[in-house]
Amino acid sequence: MSKLKLKLVHLYPLFLNIYGDIGNVKVFKKRCEWRDIDLEIEQINIGDKITPGTDIYFIGGGQDRQQVEVSVEMQKNKSVLIDEYNNDAVFLGICGGYQLMGQYYQPHDAERLEGIGILDACTIAGSMRFIGNVSAKIDYLHPETIVGFENHSGLTYLNGDTTPMASIIVGNGNNGQDRTEGARSRNAFGTYLHGSFLPKNPHFADYLIKLALKKRYNDDITLSPLDDTIELKAHDFVLNKTY
Ligand code: GLN
Repeated sequence: MSKLKLKLVHLYPLFLNIYGDIGNVKVFKKRCEWRDIDLEIEQINIGDKITPGTDIYFIGGGQDRQQVEVSVEMQKNKSVLIDEYNNDAVFLGICGGYQLMGQYYQPHDAERLEGIGILDACTIAGSMRFIGNVSAKIDYLHPETIVGFENHSGLTYLNGDTTPMASIIVGNGNNGQDRTEGARSRNAFGTYLHGSFLPKNPHFADYLIKLALKKRYNDDITLSPLDDTIELKAHDFVLNKTY
């Protein structure tokens, strides 16, 4: 059987990579490599044109001012990104990147930043920053938890058929009010969890890799099991922390 292949596009890593969010791309790379899946990675930077045919899009977090530049760029590529979403490409956005996957982000004392709207979610800058450890319940994975670290002032509210990715156990998540964390629509996921996110949530990484393989090969491909002892030790360490 020929080698399985996947393509990942890392969106604007020079602008949105706060708190080492590039660690998520490294997890995709290693977990594919360990299964002999050939993962091609392309970086898209300011001025680059996005071409269709990608299986996974990743976008990290950043400060408001970096989000301004990226918001403009994403609007230039909005239609191809929406087409890719409708073609079941997997999207993973972290914090600021998550916010720009929604309808808009309204920072403090600044112009509203337009998002690409693949998540029916709106974000408004709040009066305080949420900074601390987060654990949340996610019903469709084992373990049934995801963990990470949040640092945002944005308050995100979900609408329509965009559903929460998880429900908060410890922390604030989307807005510190409705006990939701993150968002999902089709294969697009957004989360406030830095850390970076995937190294301590290998089960979520594999879930996304399986979705990407399904999109590319139209088949539920079983991933060979990996020894995640260390990753899950790190997961449980955060799970047992208070905010
Ligand atoms: N600037 C956004 C906020 O403060 C996103 C921050 C981030 O990506 N950590 O909500």
